[in-house]
Amino acid sequence: MRPLSKSRLLAFRQCPKRLWLEVHRPELREDSETTRARFTVGHQVGDIARRLYDPTGRGLLIDAQSEGFDAAFSRTQGLLQSEQPIFEAGFCAKGVLAFADVMQPVKQRGKIGWRMVEVKSSTSVKDYHRDDAAVQSFVARSSGVPLTGIALAHIDSDWVYPGDDDYSGLLRESDLTDEVFGRVEEVRSWIAEAQEIVAKKREPSVATGKQCGDPYECGFLAHCQSQGPRAEQPIHWLPGRLSNRLQAHIEAHGLTELRDVPDELLNDKQQRVKAATLSGKPYFDQQAAVAALAAHKLPAYFLDFETIQFAVPIWKGTRPYQQIPFQFSLHRLSRKGKLEQQAFLDLSGKDPSKAFAESLITVCGECGPIFVYNAGFETARIRELADRFPRLAGSLLALNERVVDLLPVARDCYYHPSQQGSWSIKAVLPALCPELRYGDLDGVQNGGMAMEAYLEALAPQTSIERKAEIERQLLAYCALDTFAMVRLWAKFSGSDLKD
Ligand code: SF4
Repeated sequence: MRPLSKSRLLAFRQCPKRLWLEVHRPELREDSETTRARFTVGHQVGDIARRLYDPTGRGLLIDAQSEGFDAAFSRTQGLLQSEQPIFEAGFCAKGVLAFADVMQPVKQRGKIGWRMVEVKSSTSVKDYHRDDAAVQSFVARSSGVPLTGIALAHIDSDWVYPGDDDYSGLLRESDLTDEVFGRVEEVRSWIAEAQEIVAKKREPSVATGKQCGDPYECGFLAHCQSQGPRAEQPIHWLPGRLSNRLQAHIEAHGLTELRDVPDELLNDKQQRVKAATLSGKPYFDQQAAVAALAAHKLPAYFLDFETIQFAVPIWKGTRPYQQIPFQFSLHRLSRKGKLEQQAFLDLSGKDPSKAFAESLITVCGECGPIFVYNAGFETARIRELADRFPRLAGSLLALNERVVDLLPVARDCYYHPSQQGSWSIKAVLPALCPELRYGDLDGVQNGGMAMEAYLEALAPQTSIERKAEIERQLLAYCALDTFAMVRLWAKFSGSDLKD
């Protein structure tokens, strides 16, 4: 019986087929950008945790990759006789191997015991963290470690970074000792079931479903989807929540195609999507769109933000995972129909927030609607800026009073079959204005790429030439977002735009 790593046992908890594929066909896994980014964040938080749990720097790190697994396990056993913190301590017992983020020595009646801390980059304790801790403690205790307790340290999203490299408040601990010490039999049964799956000669048959993204995106999704019938017009293009009756009907009849879904189980919007998809003809209630926009007179502003977030904040006064705007584009359409664009972009590496807020107030003027697409995002960022800079709060919050969301107008009045169930601006724009294409942009073509480009521009090793190129790409991308809104507004309101 070959030992399973803790991560494979947790893969089994997500889906038995995933475990089998991890063991027998790992080459089929395709990790997404999101998965890779999650690992990077995990390493950043892990580095900070080491400093916090070992302020005097006496602790020792075990590196199983370079030392080899057997050496890592035996070095761990040696270090457990000492009294210094251990990071990535390795244990192997009962057919499972696991590495603990932090082991802290605890003196009890003259003897050394150990407290284990698992460090997570999420902002709360999730059920799969509890499973993770249960496995971790089971393996450590089974290998003879006198474990006195186990805690999960996660990021405190309310904490505000005070600056000067002081991360003492970044992590918040939850004690899970009683819970995980009581789950020994459960963990034993997972190991036995997982070993049975691994021993199978053939890939288990499991249909794709909710488990493929819960708790993590499964890297085998493309492989599993390629095995089943591919729907031409899949049911998941239907917008909004599917009713319980519809869900039950789909499951009972094994439906995958939109055309097989009965109209009477769909709401109005879902029926519109189905009808447009099957007929291939777009839906456009222009009268309703004109009416929705009639109250908002020129001059009009069209605004879009790009933001960045850090699990470990780098700027004083910001919180973990706070969305911090570093760029905006603003198109202004005057009463006479003249269109002008202004932009803000800070690639200095300093906190862009205050300059961003001041510039935004200046360019938005005093009156006129400010159109955005999915208003919740921009208005939330403006409120956060108002909280951080009380002197600017009045002017910033006044901008929010003028915000008008184009997304509900699009959702209620327009649908093109090519949108495939999405009303993101990147899905609506090609349908309404096929000559405007994000794919034609050089480099940055979506929000995720904008974040990556921003981080690259800030990196000390990035050359001046590359930074200038990124600047051009970011400016062009954000400008297209707001120009797209101008064009959408013109189509929806029935207005002509001057060239
Ligand atoms: S994609 Fe879904 S069904 Fe396939 S292995 Fe992953 S979790 Fe299981």
